[in-house]
Amino acid sequence: MKSAFTYERAGSPAEAVALLAKHGPDAMIWAGGTDMTLQWQQEKVSPTVCIDIRDISELDYIEIDNSGIRIGAMASLASLERSADRHHILTMLSDITKLMATPQTRTLATVGGNLCNASPAADLSPAFVALDATVKIFSALGARKVSMLDFFKGVNKTEVGPAELLEEVFIPLPDDGDVQASYKRIDRTVVDIALVNGSAAVTVGSDGVISKVGLGLGAVAPIILNAPDASAALEGLKLSDVTREKLAKVAAIAAKHAKPITDVRASAGYRQDMVEIMLRRSLEDSISKHGGTL
Ligand SMILES: Cc1cc2nc3c(=O)[nH]c(=O)nc-3n(C[C@H](O)[C@H](O)[C@H](O)COP(=O)(O)OP(=O)(O)OC[C@H]3O[C@@H](n4cnc5c(N)ncnc54)[C@H](O)[C@@H]3O)c2cc1C
Repeated sequence: MKSAFTYERAGSPAEAVALLAKHGPDAMIWAGGTDMTLQWQQEKVSPTVCIDIRDISELDYIEIDNSGIRIGAMASLASLERSADRHHILTMLSDITKLMATPQTRTLATVGGNLCNASPAADLSPAFVALDATVKIFSALGARKVSMLDFFKGVNKTEVGPAELLEEVFIPLPDDGDVQASYKRIDRTVVDIALVNGSAAVTVGSDGVISKVGLGLGAVAPIILNAPDASAALEGLKLSDVTREKLAKVAAIAAKHAKPITDVRASAGYRQDMVEIMLRRSLEDSISKHGGTL
């Protein structure tokens, strides 16, 4: 954080995107600041203008209706953690936040910041991909909807343009039946990002048939991956016909999509093996939450 910068405060999404447009590509949004402070200090980013959006309380919400769950970009990880008893999908997301950082960091850190930072090892992203979530991105031209899968463009790169703001994550809930989801990760220490992670979301219709399967693979490629062929291998099966062996095969198909690298934190081979296990366990957990006996 060596160079001087201008500090701006936005009170609404419209003000934030107007400030972004006014100051150009070297301006950066500041939400909780927990990722950005570190990157700024390490000179990985060097904004000339910092646009603080902590006053935009209209983006701080978690709402549920029959169509789905809406999480505002400014909802903190702490408020997501506290939402556990409002819906079983929020219970699962709450459990994820408990794995993330420390209580102090979770109070500052936002859901929007976690997604916009676009770390391949971030914890919420694989679950949102598995849950087939979409995001709402706001600009002076209005709001646009993007699938969670298309949102990630590379390490620290997203679909959010230079004069745009992430406003909301929407998790659809099924018209018929129910969705159950799970997330598993491997880390080295408690306050550490995942070495590898995986998530599954399984929808079972009122007829007892698996109608939709979502998978999210994290820290095994520059972006979060899904595995449509693995999902298809489970869709259409009766819940009562699912076996541990079947789930192991599905996880193995999904893991073939992984393109892990070796770095200081883990080897590519370890990540390759572990992502399969994370997916298998997430699938088993989702099936068990539906009452399936394996
Ligand atoms: C000690 C520590 C431990 C951590 N542990 C974990 C962990 O276990 N798992 C994990 O996933 N993360 C972890 N993190 C990373 C971080 O806390 C989270 O990613 C957090 O959710 C980021 O949110 P933020 O509001 O602080 O983002 P910021 O730092 O404010 O922003 C991050 C990026 O997103 C952009 N941005 C933020 N909001 C918006 C928006 N609405 N629209 C457009 N752009 C936006 C910013 O410009 C910046 O580029 C950890 C961080 C620390 C410091």
